[in-house]
Amino acid sequence: MRLFHSVRTKLTLWYTLILAATLVGFGATAYLFTRSTLSDNLDRSLRSEVQWVNEFIEPKAKKIRLKRSALLELQQLKKSAPPETRSDEADSEDVAIDAIWNQIYQHTLLSPRRQYIQILDRNGDLLYRSPSLAKGSLQYSDIPYGSTKVVMIRNEEGRELRLAVTQNDYVKIFVAYPLDELNEVLDGIFSDLRLLTPLALIISVIGGWFLAYTSLKPVDTITRTARKITAQNLNQRLPAHQVDDELGRLTATFNDMIGRLQESFAQIQRFSADASHELRTPLTVMRGEIEVALRKKGLLGETKRLLTSIHDELVRLSSIVESLMTLIKSESGRLVLRFDEVELSTMIKEISEDAQVLASRKKIKVDLGRVEPVKVRGDAARLRQLFLNLVENAVKYTPPRGKVTLSVEHSTGGASVSVQDTGIGIPRRDQTKIFDRFYRVKQESSGDVSGSGLGLAIAKWIAEAHRGTIDVKSEPRKGSTFTVLLPRS
Ligand code: ADP
Repeated sequence: MRLFHSVRTKLTLWYTLILAATLVGFGATAYLFTRSTLSDNLDRSLRSEVQWVNEFIEPKAKKIRLKRSALLELQQLKKSAPPETRSDEADSEDVAIDAIWNQIYQHTLLSPRRQYIQILDRNGDLLYRSPSLAKGSLQYSDIPYGSTKVVMIRNEEGRELRLAVTQNDYVKIFVAYPLDELNEVLDGIFSDLRLLTPLALIISVIGGWFLAYTSLKPVDTITRTARKITAQNLNQRLPAHQVDDELGRLTATFNDMIGRLQESFAQIQRFSADASHELRTPLTVMRGEIEVALRKKGLLGETKRLLTSIHDELVRLSSIVESLMTLIKSESGRLVLRFDEVELSTMIKEISEDAQVLASRKKIKVDLGRVEPVKVRGDAARLRQLFLNLVENAVKYTPPRGKVTLSVEHSTGGASVSVQDTGIGIPRRDQTKIFDRFYRVKQESSGDVSGSGLGLAIAKWIAEAHRGTIDVKSEPRKGSTFTVLLPRS
């Protein structure tokens, strides 16, 4: 279905549709025009041929003796005196017919073998018939007197003919031409068009698709590159388009926009880094001074309680500022990881011991599950921070007398470290968001557990900086399992 959402396909479809309509329209017009031109030409030549035969044989036809009845009929028709007949010339009829024969044969425009030529006398008796009229004669009764008429008839064999007829005082003249040949030419044109139209369409569609493909390919490249550009690699630019066309301008505008974004991001990062840095020193000083004050003897119970609470908040604030600094540095690429060989099973065992102290206050048991010796390449301090973060969360969000289990195993392509708890769990809708900065799940069971919402964002960054992943599987009120997958090298 993606295909139908592409401009390339839409362009090709529209192009094909318009081209098909144009080709069919053009073919039909060409066909109809040719047909009408051919039949007009045929009619014109038939008219002139019948006219010619008429003019040519009229003087000779006078010599053909007309029967008495025919003469009377003619007289009635013309309402005038009958033409003179010279009954003394007994042979005149034969002489005239021979002359007609010869003239028709000699005339270059007439071909009695292809054309049907038939001459009847006024009585309808045959005077001349071309050899092509081998079978039967041409029958047409409504013959105009003195003018020419062109009609369509069928001969006795059933062939379609275009017929020009006329009659004068002496004879009826028929000149016809079979339409088969004309139809054959038209059929030829029609089958050529029927074959060539789809062929032209296929070639044009392939060409059109290729054209759309090549001209829109840079758009695909722009989309793919733009998709890869995130806040972390705003220094990347789209490959410059060589030509100053629509795509060239689009690329340039896009690159300008990324440039402005990069500048804004850099400003925000500088501001956050400066702000965190400026906060760090006074916080440390305040923490130190409160610790000194708390050590003083003779403090009133209320004052001591207040100072302790302020101290706890300061510790929390310092940890938030530290986490922020870590994230800002990681984003700006200023946080350099020191990669070494790290034995994960040893690290996990140490972390479980450290966590034991933390967990014992809530009577939570920290256990080791499957612990296999796995080595990965990584920054030991950061990996430790990542796992400690997960274990601290597990203890934080597990009610007293719960259980936290740490395990490290081989997995396809690397190591898998998981931290499982029997805690409050995370609702499904929040599971993808908990790795975002400052995101904390709002649920009653969390109670007043304090936190900044930055721990898992840092954990995710550390996992990804090692080309690994972090994932969670959780069920509310049953517990959660965080799994970190790290590649072997
Ligand atoms: P916080 O400082 O709030 O713990 P994190 O980024 O570490 O911030 O965690 C984000 C949120 O994910 C927490 O506020 C909590 O709601 C939820 N969460 C993290 N770990 C667990 C866990 N093991 N069990 C239940 N909820 C958890």
